[in-house]
Amino acid sequence: MSDQQSRATPDQSHTVKDTIVAIRRRLEQALASAGRPADSAAVLAVSKTKPAVMLREAFEAGQHLFGENYLQEALEKQRSLADLEGIEWHYIGALQSNKTREVAEHFSWVHTVDREKIARRLSEARPSSLGPLNVCLQVNISREDSKSGVMPEALPALVEQALALPGLRLRGLMAIPAASDDPEQQRVPHAALRALFDELVKRHPDAPLDTLSMGMSGDMEAAIDEGATLVRLGTAIFGSRN
Ligand SMILES: *Cc1c(COP(=O)(O)O)cnc(C)c1O
Repeated sequence: MSDQQSRATPDQSHTVKDTIVAIRRRLEQALASAGRPADSAAVLAVSKTKPAVMLREAFEAGQHLFGENYLQEALEKQRSLADLEGIEWHYIGALQSNKTREVAEHFSWVHTVDREKIARRLSEARPSSLGPLNVCLQVNISREDSKSGVMPEALPALVEQALALPGLRLRGLMAIPAASDDPEQQRVPHAALRALFDELVKRHPDAPLDTLSMGMSGDMEAAIDEGATLVRLGTAIFGSRN
């Protein structure tokens, strides 16, 4: 086997490292063509269903932020990766009341807060030794019955409630828009979330609002064009999920 061929074999670790480098370049290009500073957005590596060894390789290639959707799976990976100093865990899965304690104890961020009860329980369960839990409020920006998220008109009330909770630090908004292959269509919900975010910043100038969590593997460029600060990439980094 030639050197070229052996490098092309799907050695998992090699593939993840190469992909992290390529993703970083893709983000740089998207930011440049949007006329934005190179450090104005970051990648959250969405690692659900992927084994801890792949996260370790990504971390070693410089990827430090990881998003997980399933609590038990995430806790297991956190245990096997406990030696990785500076790894940051974001919870991006559906959130039921019975999971709030463990999420508040084991994650730095939660992107999927969409109702007062969940916000209050996360705040109450957050160990004070860890400092406030960073949260984004999930908005049902495409108004889909099937999706979680607060409806845009109910957002201001939830913002007030979240800002009043001592265990939380409200950082911004998150959305999972209706999927579209059309880059122009993809911009519409991202622009709508951005408008809600700008409104929020105007109304609460003293709040630490700096995060627009939007854009996934298929619509990252559109999201960056519309102001995303944190893109959540799964497939583009780790390949398709079964
Ligand atoms: C799975 C998931 C992603 C990543 O989606 P890809 O299309 O694989 O990049 C992003 N955000 C959330 C909330 C997810 O559940």
